[in-house]
Amino acid sequence: MSGSGSTWTRREFVGNVAGVAGVGACAIGLLGRNSDLSASEGAKGMMPGSATIQLSYDVVVVGGGMAGMTAALAAAKNGAKTLLVERYPYCGGAFTAGMVIHIAGLVDHRRIHKTDELTMNPRKWIVQGLAVEYHERLSKFGATHGPQWDHEPAKIIFDAILADYGVDVLYGTHFHAAKVGGGGRIESVELIYRTAKVIATGKVFVDGSGDGDLAAAAGAKFDVGRDSDHRMQPATLSYMVADVLYGTGENLNGILRKAWEEDKIPKDIRPAVIGPRWAEGKKRTELWCSIPRQWGDFSDPIEYSKMERRARAIGWEIFRYLKANTKALSDAYLGSICQQVWPREGRRVRAGYTLTADDVRHEARFEDVVARGAFYLDLHSVTPGTIGWDLDEHRPKMNTYFDIPYRSILPVGVENLLLAGRMLGSTQEAYSATRVMGTGIATGQAAGTAAALAVRSKRTAREVPIKQLQETLRSQGVVI
Ligand SMILES: Cc1cc2nc3c(=O)[nH]c(=O)nc-3n(C[C@H](O)[C@H](O)[C@H](O)COP(=O)(O)OP(=O)(O)OC[C@H]3O[C@@H](n4cnc5c(N)ncnc54)[C@H](O)[C@@H]3O)c2cc1C
Repeated sequence: MSGSGSTWTRREFVGNVAGVAGVGACAIGLLGRNSDLSASEGAKGMMPGSATIQLSYDVVVVGGGMAGMTAALAAAKNGAKTLLVERYPYCGGAFTAGMVIHIAGLVDHRRIHKTDELTMNPRKWIVQGLAVEYHERLSKFGATHGPQWDHEPAKIIFDAILADYGVDVLYGTHFHAAKVGGGGRIESVELIYRTAKVIATGKVFVDGSGDGDLAAAAGAKFDVGRDSDHRMQPATLSYMVADVLYGTGENLNGILRKAWEEDKIPKDIRPAVIGPRWAEGKKRTELWCSIPRQWGDFSDPIEYSKMERRARAIGWEIFRYLKANTKALSDAYLGSICQQVWPREGRRVRAGYTLTADDVRHEARFEDVVARGAFYLDLHSVTPGTIGWDLDEHRPKMNTYFDIPYRSILPVGVENLLLAGRMLGSTQEAYSATRVMGTGIATGQAAGTAAALAVRSKRTAREVPIKQLQETLRSQGVVI
């Protein structure tokens, strides 16, 4: 390899750019068994700006959120040589990069702050399988409080789990385009790392990008927002306020609401959700702030950039107001702001079955069930500038669930693609329930397992025998 525009082999790539993963493995004992891409003798220099790297895998997963990461682990667990591509330098998606610390949908949503057996014991959860493994690995480091997990340790522990399962991971790498061949099969994905291009071929692909970037690029049909006007639920910026005094009895949401009504904070702030992190037995805690709501278009870089600036500025105003006007925040400081304003809603890819609000409400059961959803219809108002919800229903009931059928993660028109996470086939109302991370873990495990079974039996994803998929999932701890 030499000169710009040339092609790098996988071996050259490994030798040149993947050196850092080995550093510290002995010191912290967390890196586990190294995969090919993480084994290296050390960095040997910079690649030319326009290098092209060729990689070849059984299963390629785009997006390392809770759904995509789980899909990659499930694929590797079932014998597939697997590549996971993530644009950020760690996995976890909205959980880690978005600082959304409650993994909803693992237990009934009303138990999420409870300390009873059903909440604290993952082997009693509605969603199990790899969710239990995450919980148990995080718990060893004191990083769990029931289904509320600590996002910073998780970045490290997820790396260790991925290494243990032998998943190759490309961080800082954006999925950019898909090459689709005859019969609607994806042949390869084009990825961008800085100025280098990576072409990864695969037999089966999984879209874990949240917004369905891969499915859309591969030509899958999709829907966006409310049927009548395509309006979507708002996005939100999360941030943590540190050194907050717990138990002062102040109702911070109420105080903000009053300030807003009395024009003491700018009118467009619209305070929505604010709450302490797990604080039992603590005097001081962090305040998780998930405000303000933003109704912008994430496909437009100019509008997106404005959203980022506006959200941070408003978050700062809210913090300053509370610090000046409450005992709880009198010593507090702005601890951290998450990676980006996180979209609550994106593409819904058309799949073999479209989950509906009634499926959620009536706790539907399907013969081809591959995952369970345990969250309610939580449709944040799609109307800009409002605070409320467009549906106000709290189902399914405690310890019950709705089934997600295999057909809902099989996109129409692309043969070797599976959907993991929030873009699965659903109406906008049902999406408000399926979008949570516990459900993402469940659909991710189903998608990754199905991808590996398809590779192993040389079938398309659609042809994977449902009984074999269900039995494999059950044998690996999934409760369906
Ligand atoms: C403010 C807020 C509060 C929420 N509250 C909760 C809550 O309390 N509990 C809960 O469970 N859920 C909550 N949700 C919803 C939930 O966080 C998301 O719907 C969920 O994270 C979806 O998981 P996912 O893995 O499908 O997608 P994501 O978490 O969005 O992950 C997608 C991943 O793909 C990567 N990616 C995207 N595009 C590309 C690309 N082109 N190339 C490479 N990588 C790419 C992203 O970086 C990301 O890591 C909340 C959402 C928001 C915005």
